[in-house]
Order: sequence, then structure tokens, then C-alpha cells
Amino acid sequence: MQQIARSVALAFNNLPRPHRVMLGSLTVLTLAVAVWRPYIYHPESAPIVKTIELEKNEVRSLLPEASEPIDQAAPEAEDEAIPQDELDEKTAGEAGVHEYVVSTGDTLSSVLNQYGIDMGEISQLAAVDKDLRNLKIGQQISWTLTPEGELQRLTWEMSRRETRTYDRQANGGFKMSSEIAQGDWVNSVMKGTVGGSFVASAKDAGLNSAEISAVIKAMQWQMDFRKLKKGDEFSVLMSREMLDGKREQSQLLGVRLRSDGKDYYAIRAEDGKFYDRNGSGLAKGFLRFPTSRQFRVSSNFNPRRLNPVTGRVAPHKGVDFAMPQGTPVLAVGDGEVVMAKRSGAAGYYVAIRHGRTYTTRYMHLKKLLVKPGQKVKRGDRIALSGNTGRSTGPHLHYEIWINQQAVNPLTAKLPRTEGLTGSDRRDYLAQANEVIPQLRFD
Ligand SMILES: [Zn+2]
Repeated sequence: MQQIARSVALAFNNLPRPHRVMLGSLTVLTLAVAVWRPYIYHPESAPIVKTIELEKNEVRSLLPEASEPIDQAAPEAEDEAIPQDELDEKTAGEAGVHEYVVSTGDTLSSVLNQYGIDMGEISQLAAVDKDLRNLKIGQQISWTLTPEGELQRLTWEMSRRETRTYDRQANGGFKMSSEIAQGDWVNSVMKGTVGGSFVASAKDAGLNSAEISAVIKAMQWQMDFRKLKKGDEFSVLMSREMLDGKREQSQLLGVRLRSDGKDYYAIRAEDGKFYDRNGSGLAKGFLRFPTSRQFRVSSNFNPRRLNPVTGRVAPHKGVDFAMPQGTPVLAVGDGEVVMAKRSGAAGYYVAIRHGRTYTTRYMHLKKLLVKPGQKVKRGDRIALSGNTGRSTGPHLHYEIWINQQAVNPLTAKLPRTEGLTGSDRRDYLAQANEVIPQLRFD
């Protein structure tokens, strides 16, 4: 028997080390059960049991016998050292706890079934929590069995944050409980100077993609980040929830940007929105109509409009207002002109970008009053209405796009002018007084 054990040990030592460690850690307890139980339960085999009671190191070397032939060639001498550390740690855990790390192709039933847990129990588990059908690679599951070999408890570490436990109930079935780990919120200030792009410089300063998006969004009404120049400075105060040394989530508290020697601030208020240092809303409101008075709607927004001639779907991405030629057309919100030119069916037209989210377009104009790149304020005259392009009569075709999607201008949810007032404003200013001094550049 010792001969066999030695051969097994040799075979095991022939495996590459990572392989060895994995085999050992995944199978240590179940194999221990599989190998020993039969002997223990048959008293006449007692002498054999004795022979097999080896030192801990040797026990470990027995493990791969389930998957490896025992008659392998002798190993290289220098390969005989057995890694002590990892395996001992793994096995030192709670007695009788089986641990498993989910790998490619695993499902709950494939994992548990190979350890002899019957399908009936597995279905009972899955019935309690459908999420168990979506095990992900790298997640750890562990379980204990009753003395009768039935599943007693299963624990699933579904994320750094959440661990779910399923306990067998007296009346059969399982009960799920969930534990949510709370991290510590830590404030950090990241600062930097724009080199190439803001995104690259912000990454260098230690912000991740989600945090950079939050900064750009908070500043969108004041700053087009693509226009920042080399040497512009930024300082960001971020509150981060740290769990197991890793960033779980972040909340932007404030940002300061210095561009062309001018400072811009966006500071978070209790309501989750960002305001400037005086508590004024940064998202300026939109006009509902691009004219100073309201004109009759001659054609509605209709994404599924059929062309009466061709019978094909020809979406009407805006709303048409019938109006006399030469009516002043107004920018509905603060923004930047991104297009002002003549273009086929649209005739003379203007497109304005408002922050990151909104774009408005104005078509069939008679005369353009703005140029691409020009900054406009809400209510500024940008053109005179006309009848240019594919148009069957004097009208203004007006579109609003939200996140690259045309929406109905008559019903779209538009940014409103908001500022803080009363106690909200007082609370905000107190908060801003704490945040602003932290947003330094030096
Ligand atoms: Zn139209």
C-alpha cells in the first residue's frame, strides 16, 4: 500500500505545479471521504486503514489518484518538493465544508452532481433562487452535507458585495438568506493637467471610466471637454466605497476645472444634481417652441409615418410648424452650433448641441444667422424661417434629439431651469464651502 502511495505521489509530482495545486484544493475533502469511508466502514480492512494513515504531506500526494494513472515514470529529483502552503490553508477551513470555484462550462447541477448531490435537491435549490442558474466563472460556492449525505447548506459568493446562503428547512426545501457587505466610503482628491485628451489625463490622475463619465456629465452645461486645451487643470473630489481593497462604487462630490485661466465648478447637492458655487442650476431650461409665439402644427412627429406615394416608412423625426417666411427662429437652449449650412432635402438648416445629451435641428430655413462653432444662448435668433429644400410650403421643421434618438418635441422631457432655494440652498452652500477648498490644483 505504501508502494502505491509513493507511486501516486510521484505521479502527482510530475504534474505542473498550478495543475497540482488546483486538483488538490478542489478535491481534497471529497476524495478523503471517497478513499477512506469504505475502509472505515469495513472493520476487516483495519490493517489497510492503518497503512494509509500517512503524514499530512503524504495524504496530499494521494489525491490525484482518481484522475491519474499510478504507474508513471519516476520524476526529476528537483521536482519532488511539494508545495506546502496553499493546500494546507485550503484544508485548514471549517471541517466538512466543500469549496468549489466555478470554471468554464460549470452549472450548479454539473458541479453539485459530480459531488454526488442528487438532482432532486439541486432543483429544490434552483427553485428558491433562479439566479443560481447563472453561476459565473471565478465565483466560489461551498456547501456542507448532513450526516446522511444530503445537502445541509450551500453558500454562494456571488460578488464581492453579496453572499447568498441556502439552508435546508425541516419541512424540506431550502431557505435563502443574503448578506450584503458594506464597504468604507473614502474621499479622495484627484488632480491633473490636461495633456492629450481629458480622458487620458483623468485616467493618469487615477479616475476610472465611470468616474470620468460622471465628471463630464456634471460639467456638460459649462464645458465641452473636447475643447479643453493642453495645460488646462482639473481637480476632482470623489467619494469611493472600498470593499476588500477594491473600488466598489464612486460618487462624484465636486469638480473644478480651470480652462483659459477661468474656473468652473460643479458641486453635488443632496438631490444628486450638480450646481455651480452659488447654488444655481447648471442645466439651463429649454424653450418648448423655437419661436417667440406658437404656430400651428402642420405635421406631427411620427417615427412610423408612411410616405403616401411610395408606401414605405419614412419617419417624420420632428414637428412642422406652419409660419410665414422670415419668422425669427430661436435657439431653444444654451449650446453650440454644430451645423449651419444648406443640405439637400433639409434646405438651409442649423443643428445645435446642448450639453452632452441634447441636440436640436431646425430646417427649411430662408437665412442662417449663426456659424458652426458659435456659442448661443437660449432665445438667441439663429435663422429666419423659409421654404428651402424638400418643402411644400413655408414652415419650420424642428427636431429634438436626446442621446442620438429623435423624440417628439411637443412632449419630450426637457431640462428645466432649476436653482436651489431656501434651506436647500443654505445646505448646499455649506456643503460647497467644505468641498471647494479641497479642489486645489497645487
Ligand atoms: Zn417636417
